[in-house]
Amino acid sequence: MTFSLAIVGRPNVGKSTLFNRLVGRRLALVDDQPGVTRDLREGEARLGHLRFTVIDTAGLEEATDESLPGRMRRLTERAVEQADICLFLIDARAGVLPADEIFADILRRKGGHVILGANKAEGRAAEGGLLEAYALGLGEPVALSAEHGQGMDELRSVLEPLAERF
Ligand code: GDP
Ligand code: MG
Repeated sequence: MTFSLAIVGRPNVGKSTLFNRLVGRRLALVDDQPGVTRDLREGEARLGHLRFTVIDTAGLEEATDESLPGRMRRLTERAVEQADICLFLIDARAGVLPADEIFADILRRKGGHVILGANKAEGRAAEGGLLEAYALGLGEPVALSAEHGQGMDELRSVLEPLAERF
């Protein structure tokens, strides 16, 4: 019994940092073909006793001809379709930006299981952003610090009841 979790959100909110923390050295992806843009990264995650596949929507950072909003939409929709659960990350220090609203919109319309994570939540600078996150209409945000490993128990306890469905 396992499930997949896609981490989505605008560039720089800490998706890859969280991916790396969840996966550690157990990176499933090995063959990096030169010249091929790989925009979804997959790994085997471990969080307490939970084991699951985690998907990082990388590729948003790369410069291409396609506009950033277009790429965000395409990658996010693909991740949502592939994954059982979506973890939508915002940067609690930056607060809710227009790009975050675009994601929230996509996710609300797609339905499915969405967890809202407010990353970079260590310290007081995140308090305002954490409050703003409630207004996204995706439930209570889970305060996380991917860099410092904070909020991982809370993330696990939000995932646990969902994980039982798969
Ligand atoms: P991505 O573009 O969403 O994949 O974001 P990255 O994982 O590449 O992180 C973007 C920047 O945010 C990097 O400089 C990270 O070190 C930083 N970062 C990630 N997580 C945290 C966090 O919990 N707290 C703080 N303060 N910075 C973080
Ligand atoms: Mg990244």
